[in-house]
Amino acid sequence: MISVPVALGERSYDVLVGRGARHRLLEVLPVGAVRAAVVTQEAVPVHVDAGIEQRTFLMGEGERAKDLETVEGLCRQFSRWGLTRADVVVAVGGGVVTDTAGFAAAVYHRGVAVVHVATTLLAQVDAAVGGKAGVNLPEGKNLVGSFWQPAAVLCDTEVLETLPPEEYRSGLGEMAKYHFLGGEDLEDCNLDERVARCVGIKAAVVAADEREAGRRAILNYGHTLGHALETAGRYDLRHGEAVAIGLLFAARLAERLGRIDDRRVNEHLRVVEGYGLPTALPADTEVERLVELMSRDKKAVGGLTFVLDGPCGVEPAGGVSRADVEAVLKEMST
Ligand code: NAD
Repeated sequence: MISVPVALGERSYDVLVGRGARHRLLEVLPVGAVRAAVVTQEAVPVHVDAGIEQRTFLMGEGERAKDLETVEGLCRQFSRWGLTRADVVVAVGGGVVTDTAGFAAAVYHRGVAVVHVATTLLAQVDAAVGGKAGVNLPEGKNLVGSFWQPAAVLCDTEVLETLPPEEYRSGLGEMAKYHFLGGEDLEDCNLDERVARCVGIKAAVVAADEREAGRRAILNYGHTLGHALETAGRYDLRHGEAVAIGLLFAARLAERLGRIDDRRVNEHLRVVEGYGLPTALPADTEVERLVELMSRDKKAVGGLTFVLDGPCGVEPAGGVSRADVEAVLKEMST
């Protein structure tokens, strides 16, 4: 078992990574917790034993269930069961469950401890770590949320064996991202080490900028175009695939702006292809629509802002001209 610390002063915690990590739940529960409210989904075939009184609360599937109605439903059920501030919420699932249950824990009784048992690759390397919790509104994704650090995170790589292949691919897109955020050594790692390295990279970024005042934005590398592709809604792409194309786009844009050379672009290509992920835009891409969506992205403060590679590594870069963005998109869709 690999233990990765997330150093956040009094909110510090460990992320345990490895086969069978879910069986370590009892030892990571907050001292004094009497009851564990286990929030999960019907389709998640992972059972946990908290070793204290526990009850399971099911939530729905997908982005549509990640909403305020689900949070209200969970909080009402917690209340009827008698969950107190001294108890704990245990989120067992992918990012939809950890985001929603994490937010319910953040607001129930003004905050009750939460432990994440991350059961998708994406949740293990990204969603469950770092304390961002939240839900969607009809007006947009993740518009209501809070920073609520978990008391611990368990990343059991054994449970990834039941994950549908397309969900696994989704996590690989995030994993590919970490190669350019200091994870040059990822290629030499086995799965457990790889997940732990990704968690370690995310933990370091979060420890330096818990509330996304600046540096934490680099975790969105590849996501500006990725989100636009997802929002456009007409491309049959999983999140990780959209991020993969977004990584290639960001590399090509950085090259066009003279920030990196073609060798570095080829490195992006090699890593993304190595994960079996797409590198080109769909043939019928509407370039103008994507540019429009990217300029509305919530990270795009004051015009077109991207997270780009460069001589000082990956960093937020503002003031990118529309013409450059369009030129790279056109190049990538032919
Ligand atoms: P998901 O939670 O919808 O899980 C994907 C599917 O896999 C679901 O149908 C789920 O029931 C199923 N599943 C989960 N574990 C399984 C297992 N072990 N075996 C078989 N099936 C299993 O999707 P996701 O990709 O994990 O998460 C996406 C969400 O994460 C998005 O809402 C996104 O906004 C959020 N996210 C949050 C952060 C953050 O920092 N908070 C970061 C990245 C993504």
